[in-house]
Amino acid sequence: MKFATELIHGGDPIDPQHGSVSHPIYHTSTFAQQSMDHFGRYDYARSGNPTREALEEAVAGLEKGATGLAFASGMAAIASTILLFAPGDHLVVCEDVYGGTFRLLSTLFKGWGLEATFVDATDTAALAAAIRPETKALYLETPSNPLIKITDLAAAVALAAEHGILTIVDNTFMTPYLQRPLELGCDIVLHSGTKFLNGHSDVICGFAVAREPELGKRLRFIQNAFGAVLGPQDCWLVLRGLKTLKVRMEEHQASAQKIALWLKEQKQVERVYYPGLPDHPGYEVHKRQSSGPGAVLSFELSSFELTTRLLEGVKLAAFAVSLGGVESILSYPAKMSHAAMPPAEREARGIKDTLVRLSVGLEDPDDLIADMARFLDI
Ligand SMILES: *Cc1c(COP(=O)(O)O)cnc(C)c1O
Repeated sequence: MKFATELIHGGDPIDPQHGSVSHPIYHTSTFAQQSMDHFGRYDYARSGNPTREALEEAVAGLEKGATGLAFASGMAAIASTILLFAPGDHLVVCEDVYGGTFRLLSTLFKGWGLEATFVDATDTAALAAAIRPETKALYLETPSNPLIKITDLAAAVALAAEHGILTIVDNTFMTPYLQRPLELGCDIVLHSGTKFLNGHSDVICGFAVAREPELGKRLRFIQNAFGAVLGPQDCWLVLRGLKTLKVRMEEHQASAQKIALWLKEQKQVERVYYPGLPDHPGYEVHKRQSSGPGAVLSFELSSFELTTRLLEGVKLAAFAVSLGGVESILSYPAKMSHAAMPPAEREARGIKDTLVRLSVGLEDPDDLIADMARFLDI
């Protein structure tokens, strides 16, 4: 099946009892068992729920993994996955990793005894240099956030294989429609499903998908033991959101490309970060490992005053945290996604106080451009 067909008919969405084409929502905490010798497929809903399972299978299928698991948030998926490791272990992490992941690793897990080294993952040699005998995984995001840096996944997988360590990729920005890291040999894909997968800015959720059943089994054990599962109502909303993933991504992306090209022409815009622009340093690598540039771009403005005016003045994009919704969202990384990062650390990573991130929604791009032009076309 091609991707669009799999979105609609993948998994097993038909309710065998009544044929409902929309998956039933099993709002239950437990399942009655037939007898002492006959336990059914489900027992307690933290361990398994049919609505959650339908969603988990759908996401695993789209990412081409053996096992998919749904969590109460992207951070729950990430934290649960990191529980694969133990105190004394070490991870090599891309330096402009999502701010919440940076916070998790540099506070909670650091206190627990798990070490992380943050490196510029666009440089495979820098990744290699950071690997120690106790390193257990590479943790990557490509495109990264908010500087939209591109990491060569095939090169990272080759490096990880050389050292017998895992490759973990947060694929939130791309979705499996545009990029499937497991097909490139990565071991685990993570998602904040809150973003494009659900796509409608109405659910907080996360996913972990393992390429191999063995690793999937270990993650499933953690999901049940740690317990940060997604509730059935939210699972149903994501199942519904997923069906339009392809059409949404196509529209989002076409608009983002148009807006990126327009931004590049504006005198007040100093720099545009978008992997759909041929002068992006990661353009070729990104093109090789994905089928499109996606819908998130960042740009730097000429002054802090203009940055404030734009963020507070634009009407058609919400000034908010988050991305990947049907509505455009403008965010300010220095005080939002990367607020958890100390200012010196943030500056060192090139996240300036004139940097704005735009998640392009499904509005007409001409309206978005006209709205921003009120501030930029001067
Ligand atoms: C939002 C986000 C997360 C965290 O997900 P939540 O659903 O907010 O917990 C992780 N990684 C990336 C890339 C994100 O954009």
